[in-house]
Amino acid sequence: MQPKYFYRPTFAKVDLNAIKKNILNLKKHISHSVEVIAVVKANAYGHGDLEVANAALNAGASMLAVATPDEAIRLRESGIESPILVLGASSPSFAAVASEKDIMVTVFQKDWFLHIPTLPQKLNVHIKIDTGMGRLGVTTESELSLLLETIHQRQDIMIDGVFTHFATADEEDESQFRQQLEKFKGYLQHFPVKPRCIHAANSAASIVHENSLFDAVRFGISMYGLSPSPYVSNKLPFPLQPALSLLTQVVHVKKVPEGSTISYGATYTTSKDEWIATLPIGYADGMIRGLSGQEVLIQGKRFPIIGRICMDQCMVRLNGQVSIGEPVVLIGRQGSEQITIEEWAQKLQTISYEIPCILTNRVPRVYTQ
Ligand SMILES: *Cc1c(COP(=O)(O)O)cnc(C)c1O
Repeated sequence: MQPKYFYRPTFAKVDLNAIKKNILNLKKHISHSVEVIAVVKANAYGHGDLEVANAALNAGASMLAVATPDEAIRLRESGIESPILVLGASSPSFAAVASEKDIMVTVFQKDWFLHIPTLPQKLNVHIKIDTGMGRLGVTTESELSLLLETIHQRQDIMIDGVFTHFATADEEDESQFRQQLEKFKGYLQHFPVKPRCIHAANSAASIVHENSLFDAVRFGISMYGLSPSPYVSNKLPFPLQPALSLLTQVVHVKKVPEGSTISYGATYTTSKDEWIATLPIGYADGMIRGLSGQEVLIQGKRFPIIGRICMDQCMVRLNGQVSIGEPVVLIGRQGSEQITIEEWAQKLQTISYEIPCILTNRVPRVYTQ
């Protein structure tokens, strides 16, 4: 959402055009008949659910996927009319609301249906098959048969789709991926009528495993211009455009003498006269303490964060004086330099996915087309 006001110069810029380009490039890469399901769970991986959903639909995505019922309701109540699928487990108590709001749910337990009354409107479901992810889904073919029987006894439930999820699609070793794909094809044989939408591929599979496309792909991380893994980065058939930049400005600059300490715990001591800038961003914004030592861009050059990161602020060592209000790039490009989300992920020993998700609500998201 566009912020009503913000007087602190810290914000995340989200380039909706980058999101559109990533979708258009994927569509060119996969066959025309394959639909794109835009995965906008977790506030669109921290990018902003409504804005990303609308951009994705404009770029030709035909469906949205979220993790929770509440995420789906938020999209629907904001006027989004496209199909929406809840990927996670929904409580049976959501069924009536889902049918009324035309939200599709993921099902995988026959007993789930025991708990829902006859619905006034049809409920569309996608059946989840666990082929090796070990998270959600039916785990045997007989379980699937019983589930199908239960659903066929109900006039108010329609099977719109069936899907599975790969655990290792972003890795070089394809053995588990192939096993899961073959298992999935085996399960598909049990459907008396082919559901409208069979889907399996996440970003990694849609980019590197042509054999896993079926009717649709679930495009998440790479829609935001991020690679699912370093392995996939080296196999990209088209460039990904990162959509998110994290920006702030210098709010204080000072020259301190040798032997001065900086921030809580006095863990950093200047080794000579040093120029220190204070930035108005801290761990309460998602710039977590593990990012001490990470570099930022000022005037197109890299400077390190020194000392402990505070809740709302942090300090950077400069090589000279800069002005108050000097633009600072924490994630993104400045001049010929770039700091990527992948660089943060490496510094924090995590994956790219986690980085935009940890940027908190206090950081306004500002959209550019
Ligand atoms: C999050 C999610 C996706 C998207 O995965 P990416 O790797 O971000 O493309 C696809 N399918 C399911 C079931 C998910 O939970």
